[in-house]
Amino acid sequence: MAIWNLGSINIDHVYRLDHLPRPGETIAARHHSVGLGGKGANQSVAAARAGAEVRHIGAMGPGDDWVIERLRDAGVGTADLQRRPDLATGHAIILVDGAGENSIVIHAGANRAIDEADLSRTLGRITGRDLLLIQNETNCQVEAARIARAAGARVLYSAAPFEIAALRQVLPHASILAMNEGEAEQLFREIPGELPVEGLLVTRGSKGAEYRDLRTGQIDRQPAFPVQAVDTTGAGDTFAGYFAAALDRRETVPEALHMASAAAALKVTRKGAGDAIPDRAEVLDFLG
Ligand code: ATP
Repeated sequence: MAIWNLGSINIDHVYRLDHLPRPGETIAARHHSVGLGGKGANQSVAAARAGAEVRHIGAMGPGDDWVIERLRDAGVGTADLQRRPDLATGHAIILVDGAGENSIVIHAGANRAIDEADLSRTLGRITGRDLLLIQNETNCQVEAARIARAAGARVLYSAAPFEIAALRQVLPHASILAMNEGEAEQLFREIPGELPVEGLLVTRGSKGAEYRDLRTGQIDRQPAFPVQAVDTTGAGDTFAGYFAAALDRRETVPEALHMASAAAALKVTRKGAGDAIPDRAEVLDFLG
């Protein structure tokens, strides 16, 4: 049982500000730091720290080897990463205000230049006991999901950032769809009616999360753990990675929601993205 994650890898430049800039406004940052981010890398780190065997499939530009070290240190398998000497590693400019709210600009770089033939070779090793994770920050999601489903693996599609064209293409090949509340509202506006997936996971920030089993109609709800939020960057990714790891371990949906919710709550008490995702021991400690 392994989790294969076709996902973005970004270098995050985080700027702390008194407030998020309005159009035309220039403000000085109080603090700048560089860290590992990208929805894909964050979800890989979260799933690995949750205890899963994770194989990250993605692409990076030249240099930036500290990023690979950081992924390895978190327990993420990096043997299937593609290198693109002609492109920049993806990066993000993350603005965080005093209340922990964020605004983010992303440059995809190599993340959107994953080689399909190379990817197909890599995913030739996926088995029916494995899980494929995908998001909307790479290319090749449809190809990857097709291969995974053909092998009998489940596909967890964390459909963020919201992109209706990508969603329409990938959805028929997904098993479980995961998104936040705002994205779910857009989804229901754009695609009314039944979704062609077995389950829908919706996270609602400090209001918690719910999973709908679309085959049985069962809805499992999980309240958020009350914590002092410092930085919500990566909360959704922490949740998705922990949820995937629990599914991979064949835990029940309520167990998966509980653990993922605790991990995400712990994450929002810390500054940073990938580097701030807690490991399983820390989450169990938090749960007491
Ligand atoms: P982000 O884009 O900031 O990573 P998201 O919008 O994808 O997050 P959210 O729904 O905001 O995802 O958060 C995911 C989960 O994280 C929530 O379902 C909840 O379990 C946890 N969480 C988020 N914010 C808080 C908070 N303030 N307090 C406790 N838990 C939180």
